[in-house]
Amino acid sequence: MEARVFWAGDADVVSLGGLIEPDALSGFQRQLHNLVLEAYQRQMRRCADEPFADQLDDLSLLFLRSASPNAFAIEKDGRRAVAICLGLFDALWGAFAMALSDSDFMPGYFDSEAPSSAGAMNRQGLRDPAWADIALPGWPEDRLAALNDLFYRAVDFLVCHELAHHARRHIPYLQDTLGIGRVDECLNATAGTNSDDAYRLIEFDADHHGLDLLVVGMIDDTERPWDLDRSQTQCFQSAVAILTVFLLFDLDHASVDLQYGSSHPAPVHRAMRLSAALTSTFARLFAWTDEDRIDWHDLAWITVGEIARILELPEGRWRGEFTQGMALARFCKEERALLKFARRFDRLP
Ligand SMILES: [Zn+2]
Repeated sequence: MEARVFWAGDADVVSLGGLIEPDALSGFQRQLHNLVLEAYQRQMRRCADEPFADQLDDLSLLFLRSASPNAFAIEKDGRRAVAICLGLFDALWGAFAMALSDSDFMPGYFDSEAPSSAGAMNRQGLRDPAWADIALPGWPEDRLAALNDLFYRAVDFLVCHELAHHARRHIPYLQDTLGIGRVDECLNATAGTNSDDAYRLIEFDADHHGLDLLVVGMIDDTERPWDLDRSQTQCFQSAVAILTVFLLFDLDHASVDLQYGSSHPAPVHRAMRLSAALTSTFARLFAWTDEDRIDWHDLAWITVGEIARILELPEGRWRGEFTQGMALARFCKEERALLKFARRFDRLP
């Protein structure tokens, strides 16, 4: 059976509105779809020579009609897929568009004035793509380029994360231990119902290995070696994009302890772990000073803090002077559990 026919009839796919063909997308959606497809095809080409390439055999990229901002890694009857819901396009694009419409976002970075056309957007509107076709014509070129760049970097990370679920054999593991055939990203982190430790520890594992794929891909694709400045702006832009993904996972802003009672780790802890790993990796590869590493790491958080302000999130976790909402002691405890758990997959032949 052809893969699309197989997946079109799958109960999970049907429950999320079914497959959507690129021809059925609006012009705006097709533009975003093409960026996701580009990221996916580029990563798949790169992974062809990796030792885990057999875990990506028969893999399909699916787009689902659901307005839920969600993505899946799924495996059934020996077939594998990465599935992205249309709602994820809207959430990411909307958050970056709102940020780039605010004159206090990345001050000094743009030559152009912030466009006022996004004034009608708000946090609730992230799930309503109707504004997208209205807001963008007339945007200054530098801000439009930044919007495309941040969106691409965010979906590139998400694609790498989903590929890591397959590469690390997480789904066969979940099938064996919990009888679950898919990993559901679920932007609303407290909405998941499965609180088994294994289920959320594989998310940390996929973040870690997805980031490896992303960084190796970024560096491999460059035609000539980056100088120091280039390495720092590249790292900063990717850090902002990745942190924003997790900020969007955290829009309900539930307590960290409540989030750990659900199927996924607390988004802010995933963000902390990845921003530290990303800046440390770049610092090592490009001989940054410790001071530079800390400054670029902090600047990424300050920048995403501005997005949190624009999305009207409370202070104390993603923005503001204090960190009481970050649950730092819990982060250290989870970190130890993760390292122990990840060794299980490292040992697989
Ligand atoms: Zn995941």
